[in-house]
Amino acid sequence: MRFLIVSDVHGNRFGLEAVLEDARGDYDRIVCLGDVVGYGAHPNECCQLLRDHNALCLLGNHDAAALGNISIEWFNPVATAAILWTREQLSPDNRTWLQSLEPTLDCAQHGFGAVHASLRQPLEEYIIDPSVAQPTFGLMTWPLCFYGHTHVADCYRALDVAGKRYQMEYAPLPYGGALEMEASWRYLVNPGSCGQPRDGNPQARYALLDTEEKSLEVHALDYNWNAARDAIIEAGLPPVLGERLGQGR
Ligand code: ZN
Repeated sequence: MRFLIVSDVHGNRFGLEAVLEDARGDYDRIVCLGDVVGYGAHPNECCQLLRDHNALCLLGNHDAAALGNISIEWFNPVATAAILWTREQLSPDNRTWLQSLEPTLDCAQHGFGAVHASLRQPLEEYIIDPSVAQPTFGLMTWPLCFYGHTHVADCYRALDVAGKRYQMEYAPLPYGGALEMEASWRYLVNPGSCGQPRDGNPQARYALLDTEEKSLEVHALDYNWNAARDAIIEAGLPPVLGERLGQGR
C-alpha cells in the first residue's frame, strides 16, 4: 500500500492542492498528521479536500483550539487571532468532522503509526532534539512513526536491540530525500509542513511511503505561496502570517 503523508496544512489551500497534484497517482491513501486549520485563509477548503480524498486524518492542537477543546492561553497573539477567526469560519459540517479526529493513529497492519506532536504528549510536545525523541521511541510499537507539529522535515532513527533503543541519529531533510529503511533501526519521521514550513525552506513538503517496497521519500516542491499570503491579508488575518510563508519561518 502506498501512503501520501502530509502535515500542518494550516488552512493553506494552495500548498495542499500543489502537493495533491504533485503526488497524484503515486499513493492509495492520504495520512494527514493534523493541524488542518489555523493560520491560513482556507480552513473549510482544506478540511473538504481531505474529506473528499477520504484521508486518515489526525487531530492537531490548532484543530482542537479551533473547536474550543483546548485553552488558547499559551498561543501567541497572531496564533490566537487566527484561531478566533477560524472558529467563526468553520462550517458545522467541518466542525463535526474535526471533532471526530484523534491525535494518534495505529496502522500496525501496515507497519507504522502516526501522531501529531509526540507519543508522550500527542497534542503538545515538540520533538526538537534527541532527548525529546527518546520517550517517543520508547512508546513506539511499530518500526516507523510519523510526527508533525514542529513544521520541520527531519528524521531520527534509533538502533533497536531487544526492544531497547540505542545510538540515536538525526538527519534534517529541508529539501527532501529518500530514506534507507534498515530492519534493525526504528524511525521517527516528520514529513515537514505542507502549509507553513519553519525550517528555512518555503517549499511545501510531503512524504510518500510504499509499505511493500519499504521505501520512504520526502518531497519538497514550489507552490504559489504569494496567493496564500494574499488570501491571508484579504481575510483580515495578521499579515505576518502571510509574509512568513515566503521565508519558511
Ligand atoms: Zn502546526
